[in-house]
Amino acid sequence: MFNILLASPRWYCAGVDRAIGMLDDIIKTYSSEGTIYVNHEIVHNKFIVSYFERKWVIFSDDLESMPKWSIMVFSAHGVAPSFVKQAKEKWLRCIDSTCPLVLKVHNEAKKFISEGFQVIYIGKKNHQEAIGVRDNDLKNIFVVGNKKEADELNFKQEQKLALLNQTTLSVDDTKELIHYICKKYPDIKLPGFSDICYATTNRQEAVKEIAKRSDALIIVGSQNSSNSQKLKLIGEKIGIPSILIDKKNELPDNFLTSIQTLWVSSGASVPDALVQELLGHLKTLGWTLKEEVIMSEEKMIFPYTIDLEKKK
Ligand code: SF4
Repeated sequence: MFNILLASPRWYCAGVDRAIGMLDDIIKTYSSEGTIYVNHEIVHNKFIVSYFERKWVIFSDDLESMPKWSIMVFSAHGVAPSFVKQAKEKWLRCIDSTCPLVLKVHNEAKKFISEGFQVIYIGKKNHQEAIGVRDNDLKNIFVVGNKKEADELNFKQEQKLALLNQTTLSVDDTKELIHYICKKYPDIKLPGFSDICYATTNRQEAVKEIAKRSDALIIVGSQNSSNSQKLKLIGEKIGIPSILIDKKNELPDNFLTSIQTLWVSSGASVPDALVQELLGHLKTLGWTLKEEVIMSEEKMIFPYTIDLEKKK
């Protein structure tokens, strides 16, 4: 028997749902007023980006090319304050779909800086979220991704330090790195609650638990999605074949060889239709959905209003 265990929760987190809902509503109300631009990608998922491209949204950071009064939507990952400033100077009408949990970290960073702290931010240097937070104060926010980078930090012990992190990291690796940094700087101030968001934590806990009784792991998600990558990493650490694919036809022919129980989950920005398509494909290959394993229920909703400046 070839069995599939399906993880729940897996689909959109509240931040992704909010950003997609906002952009859909903006298109419905304002598409007659000209091109709608989004910086970077609204969320890190190829399918969602091409869905909006088909609705004539342009994903671009090239502010110079955007006509005055165009609508610019800032993506869910947060945006660098300098980019917002430039967009406003170009007379773009801006609306921000940054996830409130990402904004919370931005605000914590600003608060610490205003109180005379320097901030060590655990994250990936080239990720939009880290770029956005660091841009709040390039001189006083330091991004580190691993112990080696933490070793390169050279603060005096009397320096007031605070520690923050990206919302979509590996819970276990981040704990380890926080511990390492705290040993080097015992007086460093930590946030009251973990900055790793509830959706990332729930998905990682589900994968960690169930992957132990599976022979292989398939994560549906895009390569540039940090939370999807971290899910795949959990399977790799447990030592089972693990793969991250955008859709069913990226599944290599030999991946299922010698496997009896398959664990399927997805990143927080993945439409569930893509997971269902994969399950349909696996069914044609003789696999049966044995169980949907519900590890936790998510009821979080982030409301929004669309408040856009009038075109002058
Ligand atoms: S993964 Fe977490 S931080 Fe990122 S958009 Fe979703 S809820 Fe917000």
